[in-house]
Amino acid sequence: MSRTAYRTCPLCEAACGLELTVAGDRVVSARGDREHVFSHGFVCPKGATFGQLADDPDRLRRPLVRRDGRHVEVGWDEAFDAVADGLRPVIETYGPHAVAVYLGNPNVHTMAGGLYLSPLVKALGTRNVFSASTVDQMPKHVSCGYLYGSPLAIPVPDLDRTDFLLMLGANPWESNGSLATAADFPGRLKAIQARGGRFVVVDPRRTRTAAQADEHVFIRPGTDAFLLFGIVHTLFADGLVSLGRLDSLVNGLSSVAALAEDFAPSVVSETCGVPAARIRSLAHELASSPRAAVYGRIGTCTVEFGTLTSWLIDVINILTGNLDRPGGVMFPLAAHQRPGSGKGKGFRVGRWHSRVRGLPEVKGELPVATLADEIETPGDEQVRALVTVAGNPALSTPNSGRLDRALAGLSFMVSVDPYLNETTRHADVVLPPPDPTRKGHYDFSFLALAVRNFAAYSPPVSPIDAEAMDECDILARLTTIVSGHDSLHDQLLSRALDRVVSTPGSPLFGRSAADLPVSGDGPAERLLDVALRTGAYGDWFGLVPEGLSLDRLIENPHGVDLGPLEPRLPEVLRTPSGKVELCDPAVAADVPRLRAALDRPHEALVLIGRRHLRSNNSWMHNVPALVKGRDRCTLQIHPADAARFDLVDGDTVQVTSRAGGISATVEITDQVMPGVVSLPHGWGHDVAGTRQSVASAHPGVNSNVLTDETVIDPLSGNSVLNGIPVEVKPLAS
Ligand code: SF4
Repeated sequence: MSRTAYRTCPLCEAACGLELTVAGDRVVSARGDREHVFSHGFVCPKGATFGQLADDPDRLRRPLVRRDGRHVEVGWDEAFDAVADGLRPVIETYGPHAVAVYLGNPNVHTMAGGLYLSPLVKALGTRNVFSASTVDQMPKHVSCGYLYGSPLAIPVPDLDRTDFLLMLGANPWESNGSLATAADFPGRLKAIQARGGRFVVVDPRRTRTAAQADEHVFIRPGTDAFLLFGIVHTLFADGLVSLGRLDSLVNGLSSVAALAEDFAPSVVSETCGVPAARIRSLAHELASSPRAAVYGRIGTCTVEFGTLTSWLIDVINILTGNLDRPGGVMFPLAAHQRPGSGKGKGFRVGRWHSRVRGLPEVKGELPVATLADEIETPGDEQVRALVTVAGNPALSTPNSGRLDRALAGLSFMVSVDPYLNETTRHADVVLPPPDPTRKGHYDFSFLALAVRNFAAYSPPVSPIDAEAMDECDILARLTTIVSGHDSLHDQLLSRALDRVVSTPGSPLFGRSAADLPVSGDGPAERLLDVALRTGAYGDWFGLVPEGLSLDRLIENPHGVDLGPLEPRLPEVLRTPSGKVELCDPAVAADVPRLRAALDRPHEALVLIGRRHLRSNNSWMHNVPALVKGRDRCTLQIHPADAARFDLVDGDTVQVTSRAGGISATVEITDQVMPGVVSLPHGWGHDVAGTRQSVASAHPGVNSNVLTDETVIDPLSGNSVLNGIPVEVKPLAS
């Protein structure tokens, strides 16, 4: 006998609704939920394998402890005892900063990650906090922090109402979007064209998205900031600046105009490879479209001018009057969020610095590009132990070969992870969370980035196994080990309730927290219920009868539509001035570095990454349906470069950079520009000591052996993963 269950897919940022067929406690098939208020039946190949991912025989179901060089299964108490025995002596002997923590990308896809990691990091008390954010989107957080006062105030393109979309370094046909939650992103792009609009893609590769666009503009890797500054220059020079209703809400307009003077299209054209006339016409197109948006993603962040590029994208949206208006870029308001006051303390970085390279803290963490320095370099506060949660930095961070060697030298390492992978093979203890079918789900991160406001909660499809432990319980118990205090679940709930009854202006101000009836079967659900009921659309524990609560979301398994995005300025701002700070001095101070790069000669050959629809970083390569078919981990190279190196399709080449070398199979294609080669990331599963049989049989090569940990975007600490100078040499057959 089978049953049907509905849930949000937690595998990427698109937040699609899935319709699952469940037999017993197993998901036997998954398809798009046609009644879902946001995704309307869309599903991608990854979501369709939801059940297979859960059933993966290589998924760990009991903790592992390393004994005599081998990982063996043990019970939970024994595993936590081993964690206490490993971590506590390091902290007692060397202090809290001797323990580093690395948080991987999947944490933003779980309720436990959203609610229980912060207490764990706080309990550790370490300055050595690292995450996947500094190999991904940190420049966007930093630029938005300076512009709007909060690194989490990120405007998204209003895809469903725009007339003209300019996309840089984004490939949603493969990724389904990022920092813009939009189930069926490709369908929404096609809808722009169907209603008479246009979208233009700027990318060094003719991606699937570029192939579908009205126009594809090739650009030299890492040079988007020049193109964007050329557009800004044109907007000022040609009298196209029109802030509209933002006129009285923006500081720093003349400072940006002054900075843009050096970047006329005729000046930047040679550097970025885009004709000056096209730069000018893009500016005019953006200014003249009734509703236009500029959107940039990974290719604009993982470059040496990542923060400047991210900032310029918002600057153009502001100068053309497209910030915070329908069809432009807008700020979502998620159900667990509350509108703000429109003012705040603003954004700052550098509250502490990394020990070895002196790199500033950003958003509570340090650049992962310096994690190996902190482990390898002797001295006070040298990192001797590491906690990883859902991360695989041995594959996903720059010069990963060096980090892999550094991990092997740690005194102790504990990983919360469902797999024994390239990183967790170094762990002394591995604590596996339950599979995603056995967890409740609410997207704390991505509902705050959705192109339409909606809310959805998915209860667990099946109960957790007797031998498994809930992920919140795992993180709470780790927190107890380092803090000495237990009952974290109760503490978090009473803190959340106390906040709503003690905040002046709250509709519940002065009430007793004990009188507020909280719903939810698990600790994360109870915290979610409080957040929903006291959020922007909440029922305020009965004061707003039609408002949201966890129970209301459970009654609506296809989600609750909360309408199109609404203007939020100035309420969303957290700047001390209560205005958009268009030209923060920290950002302006980085512009001379960009100007100096105008005179730099081009590298002969540079490496960029690429995405594939059936892949998501490093962690989905153990699902047979997602890795079958021809090898996707190839080195794409332009025919002119292939001729230069005397290569034919399928040849094996040696690729080298300052950081390291790999051998790769050549794929000759004019999808990449001359002078550019492309490898996907997240591969390289051919190391000993892992337990991912499918991935090991389809290992690919690790592109991050080539990326360079010594080069970062200085404002954000983000790694540079695109535009890496490389050499290619044929390998003797
Ligand atoms: S696009 Fe993302 S959220 Fe949607 S089904 Fe695919 S993996 Fe899941």
